[in-house]
Amino acid sequence: AEAVGGGDKEAVRAYFNSTGFERWRRIYDPATDDVNRVQLDIREGHAQTVAATLAMLRDAPDVPLAGATVCDAGCGTGSLSIPLASAGASVLASDISAAMVSEAQRQAALAAGSSPGFRMPRFEVRDLESLEGRYDVVVCLDVLIHYPREEAQKMIRHLASLAEKRLVISFAPKTLYFDVLKRVGELFPGPSKATRAYLHSEKDIEEALRAAGWRVKNKGFISTQFYFAKLYEAVPVAAGSS
Ligand code: SAM
Repeated sequence: AEAVGGGDKEAVRAYFNSTGFERWRRIYDPATDDVNRVQLDIREGHAQTVAATLAMLRDAPDVPLAGATVCDAGCGTGSLSIPLASAGASVLASDISAAMVSEAQRQAALAAGSSPGFRMPRFEVRDLESLEGRYDVVVCLDVLIHYPREEAQKMIRHLASLAEKRLVISFAPKTLYFDVLKRVGELFPGPSKATRAYLHSEKDIEEALRAAGWRVKNKGFISTQFYFAKLYEAVPVAAGSS
């Protein structure tokens, strides 16, 4: 049986406050060349996901980024929060890992100096399940991979309840091909594999969105050699039905 409930979350929190923090900080920081070939490939894939997310949000005429309220759930080192803040969005950058949040804060302080329109995000250490309030846009990139199906669906429902106009999420798609890749990867676990990775079917994610009253308006797919992500931009069904 798979671990469900607090088990995954506590393991994920511990990981991203220790070895996972060090690993992902290096992967996400383009100024660091202390990465191997696989990590460099993942850096490139992830950068494409961030760029595609920014493009989706910049193309939304009903939600001008300057002045929009954005909740970046599981912000990591701020890869998305920082460019959003530079675009004038009012960002809540939150993450379950205190180490991640302080690194995001440090990077935001650096970025603020070189970006005149920068609006310093609000930073919070908390899990996304405990986020409250309403935001024009809620974004959650590369977080669902850490949780099994039921938990991921609960998370989507909660994120949807926080969002007014847009919900943007990415996940590693569950297809036969990726399942096999992942299994092969598990036969030869590298030192970095400290947490489980969960793939999600598009059907499951779309159903969770639909159950929450949202529909997928736009899809992206990002893939490099070692990084795969589906990117969904969702809107409330009522607003988008015309
Ligand atoms: N979203 C960021 C990005 O794309 O640059 C970071 C992605 S990183 C692979 C996953 C992040 O999710 C980590 O920073 C981790 O601490 C955070 N995380 C994991 N579970 C979480 C939860 N339940 N609530 C909030 N953040 C969580």
